[in-house]
Amino acid sequence: MTPAQFQRAWVLQAQADAERGVLECRMCRRRGPLEETTTLWRNGLLVFALCDRCAASHEVVFSPTQAGVEVRARRRSPVELVTQEVPLVHGPR
Ligand SMILES: [Zn+2]
Repeated sequence: MTPAQFQRAWVLQAQADAERGVLECRMCRRRGPLEETTTLWRNGLLVFALCDRCAASHEVVFSPTQAGVEVRARRRSPVELVTQEVPLVHGPR
């Protein structure tokens, strides 16, 4: 799929989802309630959706261009990987 085809497919799906009150985030592809999503509309069409989780962890810049709207997102901080060590249990010897 080309990015343009993907965008069209996403817009159709998002439009249908929005009517049911849910939206798929463009970044993490998770579905969430409409009220927890930042949406961008253009000419009556939903063109972009971003969930609050992604919006909180990214710096998102929308800039209108001739072809549409360009969205740039940059992670605010490096990904934090949390590892958990399994406690070793030593029985009495
Ligand atoms: Zn998201």
